[in-house]
Amino acid sequence: MAATRIDGKALAAKLKEQVREEAAALPRKPGLAVILVGDDPASRVYVTSKRKDCEECGFYSEEYALPAGTTQKSLLELVEELNGRENIDGILVQLPLPKGLDEREVLLAIDPAKDVDCFHPYNVGQLTIGAPVFQPCTPGGVMEMLQEYHIDPAGKRCVVLGRSNIVGKPMALLLLHANGTVAVCHSKTPDLKELAASADILVSAVGRTGLVTADMVKEGAVVIDVAMNRNEAGKLCGDVCFEEAAEKAAYITPVPGGVGPMTRAMLMKNTLTAAKLHQGVK
Ligand code: NAP
Repeated sequence: MAATRIDGKALAAKLKEQVREEAAALPRKPGLAVILVGDDPASRVYVTSKRKDCEECGFYSEEYALPAGTTQKSLLELVEELNGRENIDGILVQLPLPKGLDEREVLLAIDPAKDVDCFHPYNVGQLTIGAPVFQPCTPGGVMEMLQEYHIDPAGKRCVVLGRSNIVGKPMALLLLHANGTVAVCHSKTPDLKELAASADILVSAVGRTGLVTADMVKEGAVVIDVAMNRNEAGKLCGDVCFEEAAEKAAYITPVPGGVGPMTRAMLMKNTLTAAKLHQGVK
């Protein structure tokens, strides 16, 4: 393998340790509330890992596991109550919500100063103009990785595969703000292979196992695999054919152990940022 493997697990541990140290110096512990509606097993795993991250960082945390039949009204009332709570700095509603609940209305109800997922339109707007209060967790985690490995997007051709509000779009914005020249591809992009193969920094966030083959990787490129898919054997994997892409890339992220742990660490960082904001600490 020619490429350097970017170790997201190690970097996430380092980031969480920094967060823990800063949190310990605050007058009050940062507090995170996580709301889970329904019994989606994957969401349950994510919520459990968030609780563990909070413990590691010395945060106060609360978890609300609501039944699938929860009404929009009672969910909004819970968000409203948490908005007013002094010991809660961040509110996270685990997505996707069960059918019948209006995700947009719920995200809009979260106080932007407690929106540690960076999904509220206010925070999306701040991000768009280059003045983010919070970093969107997954793309922010990718930027931390690039920085750690001294990879500067400035002047580089960056290609993002996927245009979701959670990953693709904010990823493109962060790379653009870092002076990359960015192309965003999606399911209607006809020349995706050629565009990908022209990238100095290629970020794949599609959710299709085996999408990114070696012919789509430029010699010496940086390949970031955001996806978390399950292959036929039920094993966690990304979009990128790792072994063959690693033969051409200069840097590559594995799945698991790449972007995933960084996303979790960034949530802790954002909760710390919110706690500082609420406690008037710079
Ligand atoms: P999403 O909302 O389903 O978006 C997928 C994007 O990929 C869409 O923009 C879609 O295009 C595009 N797409 C679909 N098929 C394509 C194709 N054949 N060629 C090019 N583009 C195609 O997914 P998401 O929430 O962004 O997540 C993407 C992946 O990242 C998933 O595997 C998810 O599990 C993973 N993820 C990982 C983390 C992490 O922490 N590592 C965090 C979040 C998500 P259209 O817009 O045209 O439909």
